[in-house]
Amino acid sequence: MPDQSPASGPGSAADPGRPLSLRRAEAVHRAGLLEVESYDLTLDLTTSEETFDSLTRIVVTSAGGSTFLDLKPTSLRSVHVDGAPLDVALLQRGRLPLDLPAGRHEVVVDAVMPFRNDGEGLHRSVDPADGRHYVYGMSFMDAAPTVFACFDQPDLKAPYTLHVTAPQEWTVVGNGAATQVEPGRWELATTQPLSTYFVTLVAGPYHVVRDTHDGIPLGLSARASLAGALEADAEELLTLTRQCFDEFHRLFGIRYPFGEYNQAFVPEFNAGAMENPGCVTFRDTLVFSSRTTRGMRTQRAITVAHEMAHQWFGNIVTPRWWDDLWLNESFAEYMGNRVTASVTQFDEAWVLNSFQRRQWGLLADQRPTTHPVAGNGADDALEALQSFDGISYAKGSAILRQLNARLGDDVFLAGAVDHFTRHRFGNATMHDLLGSWERAGAADLGTFSDAWLTTAGPDLLEVDRTAGVLRRTAPATAEGVAPAERTHAVSLLVAAPGDGAEGGSVHEVQVDAAQVPVTVPDGGVVLLDPVEATWAATLPDATTVPLLPALVSATEDARVRAAVWNQLRSGVHHARVDPDAAVDLAEAWLPVETVDAGLVYTFPWVLSYLPHTSDPATSADRLQEAALVAARGAEPGSPLQLAAFQSAIGACRAADLLVAWLGGERLPEGVDVDLELRWRLLVRLAALGATDRAALDAALDAEPTAVSRVEHTRAVASLPTAEAKAFAWERLTGAVSVPNYELTAAGDGLWRSGTDGPDGVALPYVQEFAALVPTLPDVHSGWVLATAVEAFYPRSSVTAATVTAMTTLAARDDLDGSVRRRLLDATDELTHRLAVRRAFRGED
Ligand SMILES: [Zn+2]
Repeated sequence: MPDQSPASGPGSAADPGRPLSLRRAEAVHRAGLLEVESYDLTLDLTTSEETFDSLTRIVVTSAGGSTFLDLKPTSLRSVHVDGAPLDVALLQRGRLPLDLPAGRHEVVVDAVMPFRNDGEGLHRSVDPADGRHYVYGMSFMDAAPTVFACFDQPDLKAPYTLHVTAPQEWTVVGNGAATQVEPGRWELATTQPLSTYFVTLVAGPYHVVRDTHDGIPLGLSARASLAGALEADAEELLTLTRQCFDEFHRLFGIRYPFGEYNQAFVPEFNAGAMENPGCVTFRDTLVFSSRTTRGMRTQRAITVAHEMAHQWFGNIVTPRWWDDLWLNESFAEYMGNRVTASVTQFDEAWVLNSFQRRQWGLLADQRPTTHPVAGNGADDALEALQSFDGISYAKGSAILRQLNARLGDDVFLAGAVDHFTRHRFGNATMHDLLGSWERAGAADLGTFSDAWLTTAGPDLLEVDRTAGVLRRTAPATAEGVAPAERTHAVSLLVAAPGDGAEGGSVHEVQVDAAQVPVTVPDGGVVLLDPVEATWAATLPDATTVPLLPALVSATEDARVRAAVWNQLRSGVHHARVDPDAAVDLAEAWLPVETVDAGLVYTFPWVLSYLPHTSDPATSADRLQEAALVAARGAEPGSPLQLAAFQSAIGACRAADLLVAWLGGERLPEGVDVDLELRWRLLVRLAALGATDRAALDAALDAEPTAVSRVEHTRAVASLPTAEAKAFAWERLTGAVSVPNYELTAAGDGLWRSGTDGPDGVALPYVQEFAALVPTLPDVHSGWVLATAVEAFYPRSSVTAATVTAMTTLAARDDLDGSVRRRLLDATDELTHRLAVRRAFRGED
């Protein structure tokens, strides 16, 4: 998957009623016992809107012994082993015990399975634009048993053959090429061996665009109501797809082996995308129905490349167990960025990575919940889900980039090819991959692996001018554990006062000790690692901070501007730099930034710190004005202008101006208020308390699309009234059941603030949240459970009392693992923000 923060499966050892999560030891035992020959699935999607019929035939060879089958049906009709019926009452907590004597067996399971609305299993949704129904499958990471009976673990691969009955007006695509053999009946070609978590099906009145490239049939699909937007984007998407295929074939010399390559944009998808062989699924907000920024297009291009990289890293060779998740995600993230930057029109992919992903990884790596990139130690599937974070993606990608630079392309790629060839259609571990690199000519990788892959936390790098040294501080480790010995090869951008960036000079520094001597001029800028060549949190020194606005104005290098922001953000995070400095920097930077991804991904962070500046109202006004200067200075109608105008809306606290913009007045020339901008304005007006429920309802009625539904929820929940906060809250409690995007939008709105912090009417929900969270798994499960906890966390209530309440909550021993992880991370962030208030706003 390309994107952030998934959460848990439904299992929990704490609750005897819920399905069990597969433990590593169980997976090892079952893999030693069984060899799965084939799956044959017959799915009938026409029986009802709540459930579907699922008939599974598994041919399996057993070494002889007891094991179990995974399935989580609505009801189980029958199970036969070699024709003899089993007692269906034996199914407990998602497991059906099986005794399989040595030899070949056929297991047949006839079940009724649930359509789900939380983005997992077979998700069924209704498009509010036209009332049509859509279905897609998401088997990752433990949802396959709500679609079909299976041995659900990554290293029991088998070919799949699907037979699907669907309403006659639907189209069907899946892992294998789908053929309609009679109206409403579809046969899908038998696949290569797949892990259970790859199995998908996309069915509904989807609009499909087809093409071929280099012998590979290509397909794009999206809801019928997005047909126009998909057609408008099709050439860009197909061009990216062709370019990426050509580059991966050139790099690896191993052809894509899974037949068709469908890219289906599906509704209410939790992640950014999922790499199912033959049928990648994407969230359909990536089919742009309003004008969008180049940053969003670049991010989409990287996602396309990331999912394609998975066809090799993950799909041809799959991690044996989830603790080697990085073998999927770090590689897909690295190769996705690299290929996008080198062969597509989006050559600023690495700059976007700096603006968007690096802080995500650095923060995750500095939380109390940090873990190594490799070997995350996951003992069960549930636990492994916690590692879909900035470490597995952004840090892992940065470490692989460092390794690639060190080994060179010849060795780096030859090792990968050796790995794909040895383990083709099978499974492997980190040690297998390190072995492949060593065979390809890498020296012993033990030292590299110890320093970067199997130890957690970033080093902190900073310059001490007085002492004339560059200092490296290793992350704290448990007592008795020595910190990782790391060497950093970085450059130092040094400019004398008045030099600007272009007048400065760059020195290479080898940081191979706790401190190394450096020479810096008095009073000038010192920027450490300006192109972010190493993985470390770098902090600007006190002399440099006030010079950063002049530096970003002077430099032509977008990488340097991104590095400046990352260092300033690290400085604020550690309460070394006053958030007022972020306002100063943003004010200088907004009118000069040319990469709109910078605005899209960095400016919301600046806004989130507004309540912690010395004068929030004035800070907001300065930022709004700077963003408008940028919008007026940009080419009319350009994506950069759009990003600047979006920023202006985010900072604006003048309701009359927002109302004027909504009415098409006083706009910078070239700005057109379309659906997306309209809702952005309405959400901002709502947060300021300058609109009401009736006006928001009217806006939804005027254009009732899926986007409108979600943004309407966000806007209503943002209103500073007790009724609005109750509206948000009843979505979390389950009193009102809504799809996943609306749920997270409600949480976002609940804690959205004007300029000074959260509204008083929201504050009672700090205690309500603390009381509700332990029972939330009764209402929400899987991915949605964790994202709901994150969305409704009282993030804008930066007070000692809230920190205490949340710390007490996170310490309870009856919490689901995914819930605890989100609470710990969010509370760490809150604690850091409180430290900023104490350091700079005189609070205690
Ligand atoms: Zn991925």
